Amino acid sequence: HHQPYDDSNIFARILRGELPATKVLETEHSLALHDINPLAPVHVLVIPKGAYVSWDDFAANASEAEIADFVRAIGETARKVGAEPQGYRMLANTGKRAGQEVPHLHVHLFGGQPLGPMLA
Ligand code: 5GP
Repeated sequence: HHQPYDDSNIFARILRGELPATKVLETEHSLALHDINPLAPVHVLVIPKGAYVSWDDFAANASEAEIADFVRAIGETARKVGAEPQGYRMLANTGKRAGQEVPHLHVHLFGGQPLGPMLA
């Protein structure tokens, strides 16, 4: 039932150090990096270091330690870039039909401007 994890995706390559990235925060199980094509003044991606295809895969299969680390890393990243307490939005496209292009879980964190309504 699971989409197999493709080791050649761009975030796997960044995690292996094969491609550069502008890191915002690194924890035991998570990494936050600036999006290469920012859609807002603050646009950061938070990814788990583990090989999880999507939010669905992560929620079902990650350890409690990985999940706790990831949730906290998102909050810590938001504070680090000033999105908190200013206000920010998190988004995780899950599956191709929802617009997920890279098959390694990433939570988008948008901020730095008023964000308007959802799905606009
Ligand atoms: P998705 O559409 O899968 O939710 O989002 C993928 C995101 O990854 C896009 O916002 C895109 O700009 C970003 N992205 C794609 N390739 C790279 C890259 O090589 N480095 C970084 N930092 N972001 C990337």
